[in-house]
Amino acid sequence: MTWVTGATLTYLDHAASTPMHAAAVEAMMPYFADVYANPSGSHRFARRARQAVDESRDTVASAVGCAPNEVVFTGCGTESDNMAIAGAIARLGGTAVCPAVEHHAVLHPVEQLGGRTVAVDHTGHVDLDALAEVLESTPDVTIVSVMAVNNEVGTITDLAEVAAVVRRRAPGALLHTDAVQSACWLDLGEITPHVDLLSLSAHKFGGPKGVGVLIERGGPKVAPLIIGGGQERERRSGTHNTAGIVATAVALDITDRERPSEVRRLGALRDSLVSGLQDRLDDVIETVPADRKVAGSAHVCIAGLESEALLYLLDEADLCASAASACASGAMEPSHVLAAMGVERSLALGALRLSLGHTTTGADVDRAIDVIGAAVVQLRDRAAARSSS
Ligand code: PLP
Repeated sequence: MTWVTGATLTYLDHAASTPMHAAAVEAMMPYFADVYANPSGSHRFARRARQAVDESRDTVASAVGCAPNEVVFTGCGTESDNMAIAGAIARLGGTAVCPAVEHHAVLHPVEQLGGRTVAVDHTGHVDLDALAEVLESTPDVTIVSVMAVNNEVGTITDLAEVAAVVRRRAPGALLHTDAVQSACWLDLGEITPHVDLLSLSAHKFGGPKGVGVLIERGGPKVAPLIIGGGQERERRSGTHNTAGIVATAVALDITDRERPSEVRRLGALRDSLVSGLQDRLDDVIETVPADRKVAGSAHVCIAGLESEALLYLLDEADLCASAASACASGAMEPSHVLAAMGVERSLALGALRLSLGHTTTGADVDRAIDVIGAAVVQLRDRAAARSSS
């Protein structure tokens, strides 16, 4: 990829945000200055915008495997997650429960509302026995939220298993999944039947920033977070972002169609990235085994260095990566995800998240191995010189 300076940019931070698909950019253009009417208006011009929103809703519903009237467009993945948790507690009262490795968009509302967190195993998958125990010892659980794919280490949750535990131990509770990191890698139609609520974010699958989706299966389940004009059948007020919604549907449709071949292509590239680093460097530990995580995730812990220093050198070399989730990078503490997984602190401090996506090529992987290899050697040499002086 060519960077604005003309230099080569190696972008391996797709879990933070993906570039938009060209077709999605093109699809949104007419809705800025041509079909700009408010889709809630009552004239025929407004109805054209309304039709675009409705058709987009149909497309999203078909990719997700739900009915169009179960799709609620929101302002981002964070809003969808907040709406699921805070909206459930506002409507039903009771207690929210989630694994300790959730994105902060789920974890913070659960904690703020006095909810409970559940332990995970060493791969970051929710511990099903611990979940059962928490549900049994908390009689008023009204919502359980378990992410479909972890944004940091890429672990895939077996939602069929989670649903079996939740339906048995807390039969009245809603089950929400944050599927924000899933769309590129998993068939959403296989996740949806297990849950009541599902969150998506367009900028993680080649759509625009600032558009989220909350699927509410079987009609309204939670109280709205944003009230006002009554858009989205009273579930999410605020004038529709027509252009963003149209582009979201186009991006999701492309993602859905290209997923099988992209999973194969990017899974192979991810494997060669990790093995290339391991061949080149000692003590590079793949945080989660490849068969437990999505194809685009290459999270490693590199012993003997701090990821802050590594990220600085990678940035200097125009390689985009991240240490923890994008929202948390900059912190010197090991991430809450690695801490919950029980990753030793000294290893967790050397965490590096490399995430691949639809624009990633073999050349990106080759360059990443060279750049990261050289940077790690430089940091280790520096540390050795310091300790011998
Ligand atoms: N949930 C997960 C798992 C994420 O990875 C992210 C973003 O990193 C979010 C929620 C928040 O989505 P958004 O950036 O659209 O607010």
